[in-house]
Amino acid sequence: MSFKDLQLNKPILRAVAEAGYDNPTLVQEKTIPFVLNKKDVIVSAQTGTGKTAAFALPILQLLFDNQDAPKKGKKIKALIISPTRELAVQIEENFKTYSTYTNLRTSVIYGGTSIEPQKDILKKGIDILIATPGRLLDLHKQDFVNLDYVETLVLDEADLMLDMGFIDDVKKIERLCTKEKQVLLFSATIPYKVEQLANTILTNPERIEVAPNSSTSKNVNQVLYYVPKRNKIELCLHLLRNTIKGSILIFRRTKFGVDKLEQTLLKNGYKVESIHGDKSQNLRQEALNKFKNGYVNILIATDVAARGIDIDELDAVINFDLPNVPETYVHRIGRTARAGKTGISYSFCSADEKSYIKTIQQLIQLQIDVIEDHPYPLDPKAKPIVHKSKKTGSKHKKGRKSEASKKKKKRWY
Ligand code: AMP
Repeated sequence: MSFKDLQLNKPILRAVAEAGYDNPTLVQEKTIPFVLNKKDVIVSAQTGTGKTAAFALPILQLLFDNQDAPKKGKKIKALIISPTRELAVQIEENFKTYSTYTNLRTSVIYGGTSIEPQKDILKKGIDILIATPGRLLDLHKQDFVNLDYVETLVLDEADLMLDMGFIDDVKKIERLCTKEKQVLLFSATIPYKVEQLANTILTNPERIEVAPNSSTSKNVNQVLYYVPKRNKIELCLHLLRNTIKGSILIFRRTKFGVDKLEQTLLKNGYKVESIHGDKSQNLRQEALNKFKNGYVNILIATDVAARGIDIDELDAVINFDLPNVPETYVHRIGRTARAGKTGISYSFCSADEKSYIKTIQQLIQLQIDVIEDHPYPLDPKAKPIVHKSKKTGSKHKKGRKSEASKKKKKRWY
């Protein structure tokens, strides 16, 4: 199928061609006709499948006929709710790209940053608004957002939205829009609570499932290292020195873990950035830009911070900590091997994480290849510890405390 078969007009087709897309992806092929027919849809698709264009392109097409309203007279006709700021910014970029040759205006609002410039943008009049829930409600309360004219409401990454506790906000936002609107719900997975939400706010939705939630791309080579928890950093350094090259995304479960690993990698001379929920929006965006532009080749992230972020050209994913939710593993490694490329995922499993591996393997219905030949095996009887030579030893091992902290420490005796 080609984009022309999808009944999109010339200005949109031109922008899509300039973005370098030859043909629609599966989720686009399946979703675009329903959206153009004003149907509600529930789409189960992960980031990387082209899901943003699957709602952005038909929304632009639907709004195209009324695009010439004078700027001040513009009303918000499409509202896209995103759980995270990074994802919201990315969706806005997509809309801007696809609407290059239209007069449709798109803007994004999100929390964690000054509200005043966002008020100015809203006052100017826009057709499409992308927003995180809290800031949207805030600006609505202050009367800067009018949702009376919303024709299409999109809930992106609905499962994450609910995980992050936005359920009441989402319901409130839905009620603030007109009853007749079309609702498009996108979610990587459709757990029971997403299903429940869909039942309350969608009308006779069409269901589109692009890939089963449990499937991992054939292009991702998955490997597993059993390693004692205390040796994970050493194993990571060992692999970065000898095996893993290119642009690398490392997942850790906690913000503390992200910071700790970042410090260690920086001390060892690696170019690293990190993102997690405790960092300001500006710092997160800056870190992401540095990674995307190649100034650093390693990004360390928590799941929530990295979710939905589109990063091209990722060579490897490291699951430094294993996720306790098996679907998260699928999301994580889906970040590599996009668009037909190949990638590798490295998972570190310590003794207390063995049960996670079991459930992950059940979900993906695959035995992940175990690499036994490494210096830090979990079970030393199975494989003798290979002591590192001085040359390959890391700075990290020389001492866990910095000189500064040693000096600061007061002795009790
Ligand atoms: P998404 O799943 O929306 O995050 O999209 C993942 C990536 O696929 C983005 O970098 C898009 O620019 C890209 N993309 C979307 N649609 C297509 C297409 N039809 N052909 C090639 N790339 C696409």
